[in-house]
Amino acid sequence: MEIKSEQGMVLAGEKLAKKILMDGIRVIELVGDVGVGKTTLTKGLARGLGVKESVTSPSFTISKTYAGRDGRMLVHYDFYRLGEPGIMIEDLEEKLADEKNVVVIEWGESVKGVLPEGHLTVLVEYCEDGGRRVEIK
Ligand code: ADP
Ligand code: MG
Repeated sequence: MEIKSEQGMVLAGEKLAKKILMDGIRVIELVGDVGVGKTTLTKGLARGLGVKESVTSPSFTISKTYAGRDGRMLVHYDFYRLGEPGIMIEDLEEKLADEKNVVVIEWGESVKGVLPEGHLTVLVEYCEDGGRRVEIK
């Protein structure tokens, strides 16, 4: 689908949150270029999970955790600055194992091996008109 604005992207994330809660999906890999809207989509996911805090890019801290509703947690990773995930892979595996966590990963190429089968991959691409194409795999 094509999404033409930042607000539209947040809404798409919110809808995606509903879908993953219904389908019992807990892990989402976001794939797309710098500035395409992965973190914006995550803001919407957070809203859909009942996170009240505002979500900011975890690219400096690698990960950020937010409390949602019903005891659910959102764990947001951005591995952009890490060539090798190193010890962060253990942290990720721990978060993946915990049923209360919804785990969202940007730049997850190097950690693909530990993601569970059946995780969602969402592709985000630039459109020529300035919008973004979002595709759920
Ligand atoms: P990423 O995490 O992929 O690097 P960000 O979400 O941090 O990208 O930044 C994306 C930028 O693009 C923000 O400035 C946001 O306002 C804008 N943006 C996000 N989604 C859309 C959209 N669907 N159409 C137009 N601009 C968007
Ligand atoms: Mg980002």
